[in-house]
Amino acid sequence: MALLQVQNLSKRFGGVQAVDTVSFSVKEDQIYGLIGPNGAGKSTTFNLLTSMIKPDSGKVIFKDKDISNEKPHKIAMLGLGRTFQHVNLFSESTVLDNILMANYCRISDSFWGTIWKSFKSPTTLLTGQEKAFEILKLADLENYADELAKNLDHGHQGMLQIAIALATEPQLLLLDEPMRGMNPIETEEISDFIIKIKESGTSVLIIEHDMKAMMKICDQLSVIVYGKKIAEGTPDEIRNNPEVINAYLGS
Ligand code: ADP
Ligand code: MG
Repeated sequence: MALLQVQNLSKRFGGVQAVDTVSFSVKEDQIYGLIGPNGAGKSTTFNLLTSMIKPDSGKVIFKDKDISNEKPHKIAMLGLGRTFQHVNLFSESTVLDNILMANYCRISDSFWGTIWKSFKSPTTLLTGQEKAFEILKLADLENYADELAKNLDHGHQGMLQIAIALATEPQLLLLDEPMRGMNPIETEEISDFIIKIKESGTSVLIIEHDMKAMMKICDQLSVIVYGKKIAEGTPDEIRNNPEVINAYLGS
């Protein structure tokens, strides 16, 4: 069954058709990739999926529910989690606290609601600790639990960003360029982490420029150029698609 269905999504900014009638579906237990040159409309697509911006036309269906007009925090609570293209963490807090905060926040749609629920049901905090260590282990960050986030190197901060999004316990995790600025070893570590996320039962929708990594981790990919989807398929199909080679891979 499709977890996410994107139907004819369009968004224009002034003279730029950033997203042009884009459709695709992400199934459960899938890593789905969006590739395409800079300015192709990939981040805008993520912003439309999470209601950070409203589409001009088209629909987003998540778990059979039309979420096109839902508020961003409602969408997050429904199980659609995301990271951003730029670093987004509490740098003065420890790695563990970053994960715990994200995990507590998932249980309510407001800060005080979270505190109240934690107060009424202290076991939530306990479950949060267990869950946090489970996630840190998956991210290979358990040895850094007490380190301040700002003291981590670039690669580990990248892992932490994904771990924070995972701590909100999404069913589908949206990752925007998680390998940006990473060296080959860090890229390999992030790839392994994303595969482990899928194996632990969370589907992933990922935007990334590193073609080699995308071909390795994705089950299915769409290629976006100038806001339009020009091809869709498995890594092998995409690699051998003449239109893709022409428009993107060959450039
Ligand atoms: P990608 O993530 O594929 O690199 P983006 O989705 O960020 O591309 O951008 C697609 C196009 O939309 C670009 O031409 C960009 O300049 C434009 N764009 C994105 N966001 C805005 C915005 N908030 N206002 C105006 N133009 C935007
Ligand atoms: Mg982008």
